[in-house]
Amino acid sequence: MSQSPLSGKNAIITGSTSGIGLGIARQLAKAGANIVLNSFTDSADDHALADQLIKDFGVKALYISADMSNPVACAALVEKATEQLGPISILVNNAGIQFVAPVDEFPTEKWDAIMAINLSSVFHTTKAAIPGMKKFGWGRIVNISSAHGLTASPFKSAYVAAKHGVIGFTKAVALELAEQNITSNAVCPAYVLTPLVEAQIPEQMKVHNMDRETVIREVMLSRQPTKEFSTVEQIGDIVVFLCSDAAAQITGTPISVDGGWTAL
Ligand code: NAD
Repeated sequence: MSQSPLSGKNAIITGSTSGIGLGIARQLAKAGANIVLNSFTDSADDHALADQLIKDFGVKALYISADMSNPVACAALVEKATEQLGPISILVNNAGIQFVAPVDEFPTEKWDAIMAINLSSVFHTTKAAIPGMKKFGWGRIVNISSAHGLTASPFKSAYVAAKHGVIGFTKAVALELAEQNITSNAVCPAYVLTPLVEAQIPEQMKVHNMDRETVIREVMLSRQPTKEFSTVEQIGDIVVFLCSDAAAQITGTPISVDGGWTAL
């Protein structure tokens, strides 16, 4: 039987109990990587998600609770994962939150939370993971930024600032590690069909008095030229690609997965 491409590699995906993070975890597990799932909660359902990966893909998987707004918890996540699985060679920084308000009304605590979870956690986990990757002699850091890491929308000042920051950080890390067989890249999705986005569709249909197809096309995907959402599987497969040998020379790059959003 041929070996799965990522077998023997251990991956942490932050914020991976739902949506894109869980999609990435499943595609990495499908490619043979052992998986650490993470969120800030610690419920039976969280641990059951890891058990499901073991069952579906025959890899090692566990759930570790850690709040990505807390620098100590970010480092502890990497430490605990290493204790349980061995060196972490794939780090996917995915945890993220959103808040929408005009700048002059933007609550300071929301700004601070977005900066902590969407940007600073990327620094804290990366800092903690690099020594293990260097020892292992191979590493892949993939940061989930956004089309809002390359462009802006009104009322999303904190999110846009944090996601631009993630891309800058990604590039600096890539340069520092360029000769160490460790790559650092960012993935920049526009709208991805996650349960959260799916849940907004009925409400938008009501507000705009439109059918499902029209509200998706005219309202939700008005800036997405293909008029199609990306799927979490597509984002997961791009992360798997960035972990492959074919991507060894891709580093310091924001990769848009946005149906043409940033080409406009
Ligand atoms: P989601 O809300 O479905 O998932 C976010 C995950 O992060 C969840 O597992 C949640 O529990 C976890 N999380 C939240 N706060 C946390 C914290 N303090 N500590 C640890 N985990 C925490 O969101 P999603 O849509 O899957 O988004 C995932 C990432 O992709 C985010 O960084 C988001 O900005 C980015 N993104 C999403 C879209 C989209 O259309 N959904 C587009 C571009 C970028």
